[in-house]
Amino acid sequence: MLESSEGMNPVIQKLLELQTEDLRAAELRRQIGAFPAELARIDNAVRAAERAVAQAKQRVQDLHKDRKKLELDVEDWRDKIRKYKDQIYQLKSNEAYRAMQEEIRAAEAELGRAEDRLLEQMVGAEDSDRAVKEGERALAAAEAAGRGEREEVASQKAVVEKELAEVEAASKACLAGLPGDLVDHYHRLARRHGGVALAAVRDEACSMCSVRIRPHVMQLLRQANSDEEIFHCETCTRILYFVEAKAPAAAPQEAPAAEPGN
Ligand SMILES: [Zn+2]
Repeated sequence: MLESSEGMNPVIQKLLELQTEDLRAAELRRQIGAFPAELARIDNAVRAAERAVAQAKQRVQDLHKDRKKLELDVEDWRDKIRKYKDQIYQLKSNEAYRAMQEEIRAAEAELGRAEDRLLEQMVGAEDSDRAVKEGERALAAAEAAGRGEREEVASQKAVVEKELAEVEAASKACLAGLPGDLVDHYHRLARRHGGVALAAVRDEACSMCSVRIRPHVMQLLRQANSDEEIFHCETCTRILYFVEAKAPAAAPQEAPAAEPGN
């Protein structure tokens, strides 16, 4: 990030170091701030799997109650048919006999329907049992994944917190070498400009807001590199610093042609 610091105003150089540390600290604090949401997301995935299992188990219980009722229905119709069949031999008139036959046919139809309902219910119950087992497998997987992810977050957090402590110490070390009022001024500018209080001058313009720097300020800036005067961008108010543009280092140069006969 730092361009050639050769001949740069030492105060500016210290401020740039401070800004680099402070920007990094802000990024690390942002990362630390994001960990609780990440942990909540991990917990939510496990909670959702737990809810799915609880719902599947509730469904199995409900079906169990339904089944008892349907089994009783089937029993009732069988009892009725047995009773009708016992009674039919004691009947004297043909009319009563036919009426009882009709009763038996109707009861048998009801029995058939009750048996169908019971069968359907049993098939449904098997599906529900399977859903519970699948849910429990998914829950075990979610719990294992959650444990791994929580460990990962904890180790990332430890790394970030360690770096933050180092960066904060480095920032403090930079502050020690700077005048207090300049530090206050830097902090005010940094707060106002998202942590970027300094702006390099490039092509005679402020690199942060692109406004051109007036020629006499340019001249002062070039000279200021040797003393400790501070200049500000007239538009964005950031502290300006000037970096001498260097000739491209690896620019291919034409080799002087060997002149024959020289
Ligand atoms: Zn500016």
